[in-house]
Amino acid sequence: MAEFELIQRYFAQLTPPREDVPLGIGDDCALLRLPDGYELATTTDTLVAGVHFFDDVAPETLGHKALAVNLSDLASMGAEAAWVTLALTLDRTDAAWLQAFSRGFATLAAEFNVQLVGGDTTQGPLAIGVTAFGFLPAGQALKRSTAEVGDLVCVTGSLGDAALALRALQGDLRAKPFLRDLRHRLESPQPRLAAGQSLRGLAHAAIDLSDGLISDLGHILKQSRVGVTLQLADLPLSPQLQSYLQSDDDFVLPLAGGDDYELCVTVPPAKLRQAQQRVADLTVIGQIDAEPGMRLQRQDGSLLEQQLTGYEHFA
Ligand code: ADP
Ligand code: MG
Repeated sequence: MAEFELIQRYFAQLTPPREDVPLGIGDDCALLRLPDGYELATTTDTLVAGVHFFDDVAPETLGHKALAVNLSDLASMGAEAAWVTLALTLDRTDAAWLQAFSRGFATLAAEFNVQLVGGDTTQGPLAIGVTAFGFLPAGQALKRSTAEVGDLVCVTGSLGDAALALRALQGDLRAKPFLRDLRHRLESPQPRLAAGQSLRGLAHAAIDLSDGLISDLGHILKQSRVGVTLQLADLPLSPQLQSYLQSDDDFVLPLAGGDDYELCVTVPPAKLRQAQQRVADLTVIGQIDAEPGMRLQRQDGSLLEQQLTGYEHFA
């Protein structure tokens, strides 16, 4: 199967057409129409075999995740997702693999009405690059640099479940029993697009949690030139993660575990009620203050002195 046949067979008709796409796959560029008064939001993420996923991961899962991590970036800005391009590097053309991969990709794309409008197909070690495009009313993006002293720090969903599933896959015997329940948190994260959009105009700052809370919230702190005190007892933990944790001071998974793809936002106290009405699973975990750095406070008021960092390439 050659390149053009492959594109035709698996990607040309993969997603339902949108009316704001005058020209999709097949020409040198796609043409996209942005609504008046809106700004384009765009983001790219690449998944590389052996770095971001195990070689034997199910291709359907991979198709889902490659798109999901990009849609999560749009979610964190408060954007509506619209268009996507796919740069595929394949070591070989395996029909069953391509079928399953494109199914995973297409199912998630259809869920959020995202059209695949172009891409690139090359031969080499397996890697998947996705660029996603969305839009939002001009000036209303939720940025990292706009947290304010006094804001409440909130997260959606629960923290650390994906990291617990990863531990199970890496052979941690105590983690194994939870793999059944939590595997989807690692392999098929749900991008929080509705949450991000409904927090526009309420939240001051936002980021999505890909590298772990400490690392990602750290970006907000640095860019906003503020600090935070987090209440460890308030971290939202799934029942599975609670039964896995052995000591009261074991916060590595929820604080430093990656791949949750939940949102972390800062909300002024006066807007919290409205924010929680719009996003049912929004939990307050701390407050922004002027003192730089991150303080991790136990329920008794004492501070946890533990250096935790998230995932970094080249580190
Ligand atoms: P060019 O010769 O301009 O680089 P290509 O031959 O790479 O174009 O691609 C032909 C068309 O197919 C283009 O519209 C391109 O965007 C699209 N395309 C190529 N690979 C993919 C892919 N994996 N998924 C979606 N569209 C693709
Ligand atoms: Mg060309």
